[in-house]
Amino acid sequence: MLHSEALRRLSEISGEVVARCYQCGKCSAGCPMAASADVAPHQVIRLVQLGQPGEALASATIWLCAACRACASRCPRGVDLPRLMESLRSMVLRQGAPVLIASDLPKEILARAPQQAFVSGFRKLSG
Ligand code: SF4
Ligand code: SF4
Repeated sequence: MLHSEALRRLSEISGEVVARCYQCGKCSAGCPMAASADVAPHQVIRLVQLGQPGEALASATIWLCAACRACASRCPRGVDLPRLMESLRSMVLRQGAPVLIASDLPKEILARAPQQAFVSGFRKLSG
């Protein structure tokens, strides 16, 4: 089902046409985060195509994406997957649920992590 409300919203936010993806898997094959992802990058798109955005929005993959653009550079269909990942993160953040709460972080991480990591992390995870 390619015409779900979630697909419409994702297309509106990202400007991407999800239907262009024909599931070749080249994005996942070149993704440096794929080994840690619970849902492979190409499967994230497939879930949206199938009208199952909840599973895509609940995946750790959208937060693990480092926006390195390796996938976009090798996609034969010109799909901007990092843009889609960013849009999916935005959809979660717009629901109002905080993804990262500073007080939940272990004290040893707070003491040792570089300041830049906190700034970039909160930019990505708190909208
Ligand atoms: S490389 Fe492009 S067409 Fe192939 S699965 Fe990934 S997003 Fe879809
Ligand atoms: S931009 Fe994200 S999904 Fe694409 S290859 Fe890099 S980490 Fe993987």
